[in-house]
Amino acid sequence: MKKDFRLPKQVTQAIEKLNDAGFECFAVGGCVRDMLRGAIPHDWDLTTNARPHQMQQCFQGYHVIETGLQHGTLTVMIDHMPLEITTYRIDGDYTDHRRPDTVAFTDSLTDDLARRDFTVNAMAYHPQYGVVDPFGGSKDLQRRRIACVGDPTARFDEDGLRILRALRFASVLDFQIDPATDAAIHTQQNLLKHISAERIFTELTKLLCGQAAERLLCTYPNVIGTVLPQIQPMVGFDQQNPYHAYDVYTHSCKVTAAVPSLPVLRWAAFLHDTGKPHTFTKDERGGHFYGHSEVSERLAKEMLRQLKSDRKTMDNVLTLIRHHDTVFSDSPKQLKRLVNQIGMELTEALLMLHKGDVSAQAIHLREERMRDADHLMDMLRELKEQNACMTIKDLQISGKDLLEMGMVTGKAVGECLNYLLNEVVEEHLPNHRDILLSAAQSYLQRKTEEDKP
Ligand code: ATP
Ligand code: MG
Repeated sequence: MKKDFRLPKQVTQAIEKLNDAGFECFAVGGCVRDMLRGAIPHDWDLTTNARPHQMQQCFQGYHVIETGLQHGTLTVMIDHMPLEITTYRIDGDYTDHRRPDTVAFTDSLTDDLARRDFTVNAMAYHPQYGVVDPFGGSKDLQRRRIACVGDPTARFDEDGLRILRALRFASVLDFQIDPATDAAIHTQQNLLKHISAERIFTELTKLLCGQAAERLLCTYPNVIGTVLPQIQPMVGFDQQNPYHAYDVYTHSCKVTAAVPSLPVLRWAAFLHDTGKPHTFTKDERGGHFYGHSEVSERLAKEMLRQLKSDRKTMDNVLTLIRHHDTVFSDSPKQLKRLVNQIGMELTEALLMLHKGDVSAQAIHLREERMRDADHLMDMLRELKEQNACMTIKDLQISGKDLLEMGMVTGKAVGECLNYLLNEVVEEHLPNHRDILLSAAQSYLQRKTEEDKP
């Protein structure tokens, strides 16, 4: 098969450099898959029969990083573009179900493609020779299928992470999983227990952010439950409440797909109700879940810690979960308070989560509640446009003013600014410099009185 693709000039340059020195070199893996499906690759991997030391000779004078020298991988920087170049290799036995005991270099491109996980990821491309596709990857791309290269059971046995990667690619690309691969996923899912937390977190985050996340999460609760046992009680948990059309797990999968595809929002959506099965009570009106946000937050913290999530993602996810059950009134004041408490970005995210949440509730409430959620978003946008005072830096006076006034410690300054902000947000005071200065003066006097023995 010959197809003409336009490669970035840095990629062409690297291929030519190796070819001129007498070596083969091809673009490989994700970038070929993405070019063939008409998407723009976000990074470029190359594969070559040159051994690492021969690559180093070829790229003398370039910035070369020894990314994984013993596995044959170097990163070459060409005009600010990092290119990962790997020697053709065959992986040895995988006794630990996660990485090969040894790797051996080979001169056969087909052997190198055979070690790759899925047919759609096992194609190479060269501007002169076109696409090299010994395992039917382009046919599977057309059929929108994720299928292992070779025997799925054996391939998952080598590296259990591939089970999660199959779900991840099916979610991101909105592909079906081939029946034989699907069957092996179910029999081999326990192999995921051997995989490091960091690798699982990366794949799971991509799965959650995929366009078909709802379908994959709903179809494979067993796989997700293997890596995150805390979600298991949600699966099939009947809410027994007229406000809720779905069991807790299905609801969570639907909310995940209903929020924008950003890691923090998707994680928060997926985990926001994990506390529900643990807080269930029932009376004549139906099932209730009082205090479930706190339990969800605790469980989410446990899961994200186990997965070694980065700190910022974890903190933001937990904040959204903690506030997800906020009862919103039609009040700008409430939004200002929230912005003051958690910041503008997270308040915006919280409203998106809220909209996603109500979109997956009982059908008779959905329309009205989604309209209300849109109204809240409009209200927040207006507050932003009006430059409404919502944080300390929006106040018309600063810490410097207070220091000049004679407030002696940073702590007193901070307390006074918080007091003033609160007064402005609650609309007890306007955000006018002179008025704030005199309110600060009174605050200072009161404090001095209080501190007298
Ligand atoms: P993305 O667009 O997410 O970067 P990708 O296909 O490039 O997708 P990577 O994780 O960057 O995925 O891996 C690059 C290539 O390396 C894959 O296309 C595949 O050929 C191969 N590969 C990666 N991980 C594995 C694995 N666990 N087992 C077998 N082959 C793998
Ligand atoms: Mg990649």
